[in-house]
Amino acid sequence: MTKLIHYRNKCIGCGICYEHQPELWRMSGKDGKATLLHSTAKKDVFVLQVSNLYKIKTQEVAGACPVKIIKIV
Ligand code: SF4
Repeated sequence: MTKLIHYRNKCIGCGICYEHQPELWRMSGKDGKATLLHSTAKKDVFVLQVSNLYKIKTQEVAGACPVKIIKIV
């Protein structure tokens, strides 16, 4: 399994994660930030366990995030 961590409070709402991986991300209509679907929140840090099938694609998305707030562990 792969764990995705999204530091949502630093999101600038550029939408790149959603464009590249719509199966995991949505853009919030409320605050314009990205939301990691099905994740659990600890304060403003969102965590999601996903199959390793998502790992390579998510690494691309994490690399493309302009503020580098998507981490993979
Ligand atoms: S790519 Fe990064 S900054 Fe852009 S919407 Fe996604 S999480 Fe936010």
